Amino acid sequence: MAKNFLTQIFGSRNDRLLKQYRRVVEQVSALEQQFEKLDDEQLRAKTQEFKDRVARGEALDALLPEAFAVVREGSKRVMKMRHFDVQMLGGMALHNGKIAEMRTGEGKTLTATLAVYLNALSGHGVHVVTVNDYLANRDAQWMGRLYNFLGLSVGVNLPQMSRQEKQAAYGSDITYGTNNEFGFDYLRDNMVYEPADRVQRGLNYAIVDEVDSILIDEARTPLIISGQAEDHTDLYIAMNRAVPLLTRQEGEADPLTGEGVTKPGDFTVDEKTHQVFLTEQGHENAEAILANLGLLPEGASVYDPANITLMHHLYAALRAKHLYHRDQHYVVQRGEEGQLEVVIVDEFTGRLMAGRRWSDGLHQAVEAKEGVPIQPENQTLASITFQNYFRLYAKLSGMTGTADTEAYEFQEIYGLETVVIPPNRPSKREDQLDRVYKTTREKYEAAIQDIRECHERGQPVLVGTTSIENSEIIDQLLTKVGLPHQVLNAKQHAREADIVAQAGRSKMITIATNMAGRGTDIVLGGNVEKAVEAVEADEALDPAARQARIAELRTQWQQDHQSVVQQGGLRIIATERHESRRIDNQLRGRSGRQGDPGSSRFYLSLDDPLMRIFAGDRVRAIMDRLKMPDGEAIEAGMVTRSIESAQRKVEARNFDVRKQLLEYDDVANDQRKVIYQQRNDIMDAADLSAQIASLREGCFTDLVRQFVPVESVEEQWDLAGLEKVLADEWGIVLGLRELVQASTAITDEDILEKVIAAAHQAFERKVAEIGPQNFTQFERVVLLQSIDVHWREHLAALDYLRQGIHLRGYAQKQPKQEYKREAFELFGQLLDSVKNEVTKVLMTVKVQSGEQLDQAAEDMEERAEHISNITYTAPNETGEAESRLDESTAARSAVGVGAALAAGEVPRVGRNDPCPCGSGKKYKQCHGKLA
Ligand code: ADP
Repeated sequence: MAKNFLTQIFGSRNDRLLKQYRRVVEQVSALEQQFEKLDDEQLRAKTQEFKDRVARGEALDALLPEAFAVVREGSKRVMKMRHFDVQMLGGMALHNGKIAEMRTGEGKTLTATLAVYLNALSGHGVHVVTVNDYLANRDAQWMGRLYNFLGLSVGVNLPQMSRQEKQAAYGSDITYGTNNEFGFDYLRDNMVYEPADRVQRGLNYAIVDEVDSILIDEARTPLIISGQAEDHTDLYIAMNRAVPLLTRQEGEADPLTGEGVTKPGDFTVDEKTHQVFLTEQGHENAEAILANLGLLPEGASVYDPANITLMHHLYAALRAKHLYHRDQHYVVQRGEEGQLEVVIVDEFTGRLMAGRRWSDGLHQAVEAKEGVPIQPENQTLASITFQNYFRLYAKLSGMTGTADTEAYEFQEIYGLETVVIPPNRPSKREDQLDRVYKTTREKYEAAIQDIRECHERGQPVLVGTTSIENSEIIDQLLTKVGLPHQVLNAKQHAREADIVAQAGRSKMITIATNMAGRGTDIVLGGNVEKAVEAVEADEALDPAARQARIAELRTQWQQDHQSVVQQGGLRIIATERHESRRIDNQLRGRSGRQGDPGSSRFYLSLDDPLMRIFAGDRVRAIMDRLKMPDGEAIEAGMVTRSIESAQRKVEARNFDVRKQLLEYDDVANDQRKVIYQQRNDIMDAADLSAQIASLREGCFTDLVRQFVPVESVEEQWDLAGLEKVLADEWGIVLGLRELVQASTAITDEDILEKVIAAAHQAFERKVAEIGPQNFTQFERVVLLQSIDVHWREHLAALDYLRQGIHLRGYAQKQPKQEYKREAFELFGQLLDSVKNEVTKVLMTVKVQSGEQLDQAAEDMEERAEHISNITYTAPNETGEAESRLDESTAARSAVGVGAALAAGEVPRVGRNDPCPCGSGKKYKQCHGKLA
């Protein structure tokens, strides 16, 4: 009450904003006469003038009235449409990074042009996001005429495009495309190895059409790119044969004297750190054995840049054999499909960790050792939710017919304010009260009766459903009673758009799910423009005949339109309420455009899920009180209100679920940002020696501190151990013990410095021999690859952690806190692994020439980019996830190859199907869990 009272006095925030905006509209309109006088050339020249002014530092806000006036004038000339004043209000809301709620048919497509034009003047690109490719194409072409007229370029970003085509699309002033494609491009751009392979050029400003469906309905399903790394099956098997040929050394050798070994051998095993090391002799033998097995070219070294992965595999095989024991660390058992699998045993609880795999090729090495099938290394390569993708834009805005019910969520999660824009002409649609029946059968009978009456009158009907199943029921019922109708399921956008465009014709009955035919205007009397265009394009007719034919069409349409208006316009009928009021409003909004008449009615029954769970008891009580006979419906404001309050409850619950998920996702999101930032810095850097040196320093500090703790005294030092590791693993021979004997004043810090200096020296010597310019690219590829490999393993680990974390609840722990803590720890491990691995590879690689290094970098890059079975998973139009297979990324980079994929099948993932990420779990238990 108090709130209403205050609103009456001061006006709502919405009113105040609109008032502000209206003053600007007056400025825009005041410019109209002046701009009308400009010829086309002069009008177009305004664009360059504005661009120059922006480049000189003028704020876009200051330019707004003039820019909007130019767009309006341009639209009048090329589109024959003059932006309504309310569309100007919408354009301002969009420019100000808000959500413009404008009802269906208010012309959001045209509204967007205002903010798009203004923001494109900065030259940083504007993305217009639509829900499907059909709309992206349609809007780009439709509005492209206006942009081109004004001198701005427009691109469309489509899935089947080659890299070059995409770069051109993103390079345009304005880029239209779907949310999926923008998101996937972002992920792919963070998987490339060369800056020139990126397609996007920053995320400056986006206008999201149907923003509620993208940021709310689809927000929970992540975009996932998954695939298989190179197939190393043969290598694992061969390595497994090499391992028994190497012998284990007993006893420890002193690095300087070489004494202490009781039985010489090829490798040592350190049970404590779970590591295996090759000895000098081991290296030589290993090279001979690998050469024998045909894995290593005669005379080549395992330390050649081209053979780095061989060493990796050899170590994995040695560890599998000597450190991982069956029935202790793992068991071998039959999986769901009957094949033998290696299943990890949790070392603390003894529980079997089905589905979990050791990383770094270890799992495959164990599979090779056990002779069970080696499973493909299919993994998630990258993923992001729409929520997190769209929050990356410097400025974000959106438009939809239905945002107000979710205004709180937009504000809370995205910081987006919703502005309700009044309609150009007040709606004359009559939204009738719900009719509630006792049984489902009665409900359908009543709905069909209503449809029949409309049909007999000649009034068009749109029957809205929330699912394909429900569409099918109505389809069958209508067929049974012999009423002609069309069914749309959001499967063929272009064809369905044509059908929906004619859904306003007399006697039409159209059944559509809430996704079908979105974005297409239902004109009473049908859409005449297509027919007019066909006549205009008809070469067989002479101009006079053409004009006559068009006039005829328009007269006919005028009559049809009038007659449908008289029948009451488009009637909306539904047989269920959606969980969310917003979706119901979307359906109603298809009728009553631009001041058209129309009406809507929902037919419900006490058996509907929403009623059963939330509102049934109350409504039944009301029915009983009124002593309603069977077959009759109740229709009362009280009932409709209690249904809406039930919907509100469900909406609130769904919001909570989304928010929870977001909090989990935030963790991965922060880490992704760090990794991607690093990757980009590495790709763009001209020289990496400083970064590499800092990794080296970190790596050797960790190493030294294992033997010489911080602020420790000489008695605590294990210098012999340190010398041994330095010599064995790093080829750095240092007489640290001699040094300490020679001087008494040496501290742990001195030792650390000494070792680091020696490490730097060793590396710099190598670089100096070859020349630094060859090293940079090699360093870059090694770094990128190491980051990618460990990041992907980290993604799998986070997934696993998230799935298991709810179990922690029992241990009186806060699952979310626990998750954050462990995710943080895992991330630290990831960074450590990268640091150590990169240092190791670069320190131990033996290089003969710069060309050899270049070649190695090129090969590594090619191998890393060669990923097979790339699958893209995204939420589809019906809210479920869908996947599409792609060729390798390498193929993607070739011009034109993409087009061949265009016609590719798009399989839909059922809840019980295997998850497309390749985890081997059911979709509902894996990525589908988020949905
Ligand atoms: P929405 O997306 O808001 O439902 P659309 O962008 O599809 O609406 O536009 C609905 C219809 O209104 C289109 O046929 C369009 O041509 C027409 N329209 C939009 N703005 C104007 C205008 N200013 N003057 C005349 N017709 C307009």
